[in-house]
Amino acid sequence: MSTENIACHCCDLLIEMPALEPGSKAICPRCGHQISSATHNPIDKASAFAFSALLFLFLSLPFPFLAFQSQGREQQVSLITSSYDLFTLGFPLLAILLSVFILLIPALLLSAYLCVLIPLRLGKVHKLSFLLTRLIVSLHPWGMAEVFLIGVLVSLVKIAGMADIVIGMSFWAYVLFSLSLIATITTIDKMQLWKALDTANRIQRSSSKHPPRSATALQHNLQSCHCCGLIHPLETKSCQRCHKNLHSRIPFSLQKTWAYLITGIILYIPANLYPIMHTRLLGSDEPSTILGGVVLLWQHGSYPIALIVFIASILVPIAKMLALFWLAYSVQADHQHRIEERVWMYRMTELIGRWSMIDVFVVAVLVALVQLGGLVNIVPGIAVTAFASVVIFTMLSALSFDPRLIWDNLTSQEKSAVQQGTEPLNDLLDDARQ
Ligand SMILES: [Zn+2]
Ligand SMILES: [Zn+2]
Repeated sequence: MSTENIACHCCDLLIEMPALEPGSKAICPRCGHQISSATHNPIDKASAFAFSALLFLFLSLPFPFLAFQSQGREQQVSLITSSYDLFTLGFPLLAILLSVFILLIPALLLSAYLCVLIPLRLGKVHKLSFLLTRLIVSLHPWGMAEVFLIGVLVSLVKIAGMADIVIGMSFWAYVLFSLSLIATITTIDKMQLWKALDTANRIQRSSSKHPPRSATALQHNLQSCHCCGLIHPLETKSCQRCHKNLHSRIPFSLQKTWAYLITGIILYIPANLYPIMHTRLLGSDEPSTILGGVVLLWQHGSYPIALIVFIASILVPIAKMLALFWLAYSVQADHQHRIEERVWMYRMTELIGRWSMIDVFVVAVLVALVQLGGLVNIVPGIAVTAFASVVIFTMLSALSFDPRLIWDNLTSQEKSAVQQGTEPLNDLLDDARQ
């Protein structure tokens, strides 16, 4: 069986990795990070999912997405016109956020997948394949289709008492698009995609000599590419496979993490103090803050939705900022304890960050939908800009933090203690057929 030396993205442990059997996954023996998982016929399946996702995305554009009826008047929105409507109503920021995160990034991501996967299906790799795979890796954290869908559901509950809501064809197409997009991403992970490109290019990267176990890439003067994971000597400047600049650790990781985090914390204050939206009903203006919105939902008896908004808009941003603060501080202060907790914390911040965008999408949907002249209007408050910035800055902060720094702080004694507890990767290959 051909093997390849790789370094864990999370803790930098050098691992000799065999080609994965379909249905199995590889987990780092030191930090528990899932390195890769293999599926049956990943290229066929992922191309089919990506094609259906793109098709559903196109189908979700022209037809009515939602309609809002009150006292004989109706306001209808489609995805393609909602951003334009928001722009003409004078809310360009909401228009940009909506079109970039729910349409543009997913469309780019899917097109890139198809442009890489279809030639791969025919056993070919074109010049742009590597560049497009780099694009896939960098766009991946920023697609927010499923976050938007939850936002739509929350908006529906918020205005359910105000008028009749009609769910249009496009909404269902968008649900199917969102599911197909998730299926595409989970069918072929980034390591399997890079491997498929190598195979089609007839490049063998099997390791000739076995790396010593229980050592990091850095301890062996090696570095792994942050984008594709290929191992290089420390002095190499750019990746042989994807041509990205190489760094053993993310350059200025702590400085960037702090800078983005502090900006996020400062912006979190106006995001909570000022109204996130105003409901104008027959001339009266009812401003509501993030917390006020949660209280209102709770008072109206929509407990599950109130809980979702509370978790996504209040609990998650605070937890995420505290976690990033602790991570950056503990690395800077050279802390050598609570490794597992810190690694778990890092994984959580990476996973939950985008979900806070729900409230921003709720405001965008409500503003686009509820525009019935003098009768009832919803307009965004200034907190929406601050809150969207909090989400983006804390995501940038989490992406800038290099988790390998947590492990770099360990003294050599503790390193050997941790490593003695590790088992060879082959023993940990999880054969559970999924
Ligand atoms: Zn690891
Ligand atoms: Zn690379």
